[in-house]
Amino acid sequence: MSAIKTLPGTRDILPAEIQYWQNIEEVARTILKKAAYREIRTPIFEQTSLFERGIGEATDVVGKEMYTFKDKGDRSITLRPEGTAGVVRAFIQNSLEAQGGLQRLWYAGPMFRYERPQQGRMRQFHQIGVEVLGSANPRADVEVIAIACDILQTIGLKNLRLDINSVGNKEDRQNYRQALIDYFTPHKSELDADSQDRLTRNPLRILDSKNERTQEIVAGAPSILDYLGEESRSHFEQVQQMLKNLGISYQLNPRLVRGLDYYTYTAFEIISDDLGAQATVCGGGRYDGLVKELGGPDTAAVGWAMGIERLIILLQKLQPLPAPKLDFYLVSRGEKAEQQSVLLAQKLRIAGFIVEMDLSGSPFSKQFKRAAQRGAVACLVLGDAEAENETVQLKWLASGEQSAIAQSELLAMTTELQQKINNP
Ligand code: ATP
Ligand code: MG
Repeated sequence: MSAIKTLPGTRDILPAEIQYWQNIEEVARTILKKAAYREIRTPIFEQTSLFERGIGEATDVVGKEMYTFKDKGDRSITLRPEGTAGVVRAFIQNSLEAQGGLQRLWYAGPMFRYERPQQGRMRQFHQIGVEVLGSANPRADVEVIAIACDILQTIGLKNLRLDINSVGNKEDRQNYRQALIDYFTPHKSELDADSQDRLTRNPLRILDSKNERTQEIVAGAPSILDYLGEESRSHFEQVQQMLKNLGISYQLNPRLVRGLDYYTYTAFEIISDDLGAQATVCGGGRYDGLVKELGGPDTAAVGWAMGIERLIILLQKLQPLPAPKLDFYLVSRGEKAEQQSVLLAQKLRIAGFIVEMDLSGSPFSKQFKRAAQRGAVACLVLGDAEAENETVQLKWLASGEQSAIAQSELLAMTTELQQKINNP
């Protein structure tokens, strides 16, 4: 029988890699906590209409990439392709706005998109994201951008750049939309098929096309910055001034429009030059129209999402994986010794040590070898004699220093042991 394997675009995250994931999650959690963001966990599948309305039917995500199926109750269900729609649904459904105005939320978890799998582009991938619901203030835009930069810097990434743009408000976009239609229409036959289709439906999204010929034409298109009204212009200037005050460098990218329909005012991406085609590690912006669009109260909002797989690809190039920490490797041989080792391991763990117990019963020399392979700081050895006297041999692997000690004494000197383990 042939073995069953993972589906295309999905993969196992094995223990050898998990430290990267845990480090990223811990850094994000710590930074978000300090900024008073609270975690929210929404279902992984939702009604398909949530994403159709919340992301927009003319987008790639909804048009081509969703995992949609009928459940046994004949409901149309979609595995979430992104986090914002679910968070906004939860905000509305649970009347979170009634619980004291502004909500600063974050989430992390798997997302699903039917894409062509390649490096940095998976069908099941993972995001960490934030959403601030209930403020139109440009300080909120700057706060979320600063948090994203802080997380990326703290996990140790380098060579990242921040691109920002303003996509204006509804009225600005209406004017800009017409300017784009006027500009692209004479070039229509040269555009890729998707862009031709978008020309009347959603011409802003042509700017987002990854087709090379289309991009050449896009290079000559009018800039949205020339179509911003007074309000959008002022918002954007405040954002830029505050970024400068924070020492966060950025570049203006008037072609940056984001793939999703609900964005207003600020749009931004954080990009790495070390990732090839899948270069964006974090994307976000303001989406003042979405909460109302999904049936909630008129609520201004801003947020971002970052792709963890892409962060890990970058980290793997920069940092060797830190070895997992192991304080004691417990070596034992002989019936009584093996039984005592179970008890000793338990007591040491309760005292706060990381303890791995050898279960093989193989000769001492083999167990010692494994202790070294596992990277233990010290070995605890129980043989027949030690079991008889309730002692244990304590051997420090770096120096080879070894001494016999009563098991009770060992457990009474945990502070001293902890110090020696930290500075062997
Ligand atoms: P791209 O242009 O690369 O397709 P996107 O605009 O579709 O990105 P968003 O929807 O803004 O991406 O998602 C935010 C982040 O999530 C991206 O910047 C990226 O880091 C990550 N991401 C998106 N799609 C995938 C995927 N299929 N596999 C891995 N990471 C992804
Ligand atoms: Mg995409």
